[in-house]
Amino acid sequence: MKPFVGGIEAGGTKFVCAVGTGPDDIRDEIRYPTTTPGETISQAVDYFRNAQRRHGPLAAVGIASFGPVDPNPASPTFGYITSTPKPGWRDTEFGGVLRRELGLPVGFDTDVNVAALGEATWGAAQGLDTFLYLTIGTGIGGGGLMGGRLMHGLIHPEMGHIRLPHDRTADPFAGSCPFHGDCLEGLASGPAIEARWGCPATELAPDHPAWKLEAQYLALALVNFICCLSPQRIILGGGVMDQEQLFPLIRSKVQECLADYIRAEAVLAKIDQYIVPPGLGNRSGVLGAIALGQNQASG
Ligand code: ADP
Ligand code: ZN
Repeated sequence: MKPFVGGIEAGGTKFVCAVGTGPDDIRDEIRYPTTTPGETISQAVDYFRNAQRRHGPLAAVGIASFGPVDPNPASPTFGYITSTPKPGWRDTEFGGVLRRELGLPVGFDTDVNVAALGEATWGAAQGLDTFLYLTIGTGIGGGGLMGGRLMHGLIHPEMGHIRLPHDRTADPFAGSCPFHGDCLEGLASGPAIEARWGCPATELAPDHPAWKLEAQYLALALVNFICCLSPQRIILGGGVMDQEQLFPLIRSKVQECLADYIRAEAVLAKIDQYIVPPGLGNRSGVLGAIALGQNQASG
């Protein structure tokens, strides 16, 4: 039996907290809006205190956080949210608050790394040791496993902020990233789509030209990631990927850009199983947080 733990999916818009042992055994869950750091993090502490009264002791808590974060356990600011543009949240201690207040081991990582862990444990990446999980939503972020380990390094990857060829004649939109303008996130996030076309991404028809352009930028990014990291699979989540027509457009553009150079069946004949939606749907983050807590509990 896997340990009974808590998980937090901490997003810029909402927090989801849950307790359980896996996808078929979530014993309780709440969601609430992200407000100030003090109020939002205290709500999580209170939730886990109450949950332990009702359901018994937790072995650990796993946190999937929006970022950028400090994921390095050896750093004095481990478990902090660092240079986020989200007002009021810059340099916020997060993981340490839960650890002190609850007296429990706490696992802490980026939202996308943790979602990747969820997919590796129970979803579309079971059995793989090198794969990517990307979210295309309010922002664009990427994480995953490399050789069986969550991707860290200097800090953590920032795959949403790579630069791509941007033909300003075909697409004059300057980009919406406050740091870089027309990086991938600046060109292809949900808010970028809305700013370019003057209408929320959710309201654009499935055959609107926005989607072909979106697929083109995402495919260019994936080709770069494939060439640099050689992932065995790429999972694409986030609200924008609810537009299912993007998947075939992205897959064929990736094949066109790779031009038969990478001789792997996965990208040649089986691309439908190579670029895929999350196996856990929109549950990868919170279930990944449970998996991270379990890893922490078992040392
Ligand atoms: P977040 O990134 O805030 O965690 P989401 O992954 O849901 O949340 O991303 C929100 C963004 O995705 C918004 O910009 C929204 O317009 C866009 N989005 C959400 N659902 C859809 C949809 N069905 N089609 C297109 N865009 C969507
Ligand atoms: Zn950027």
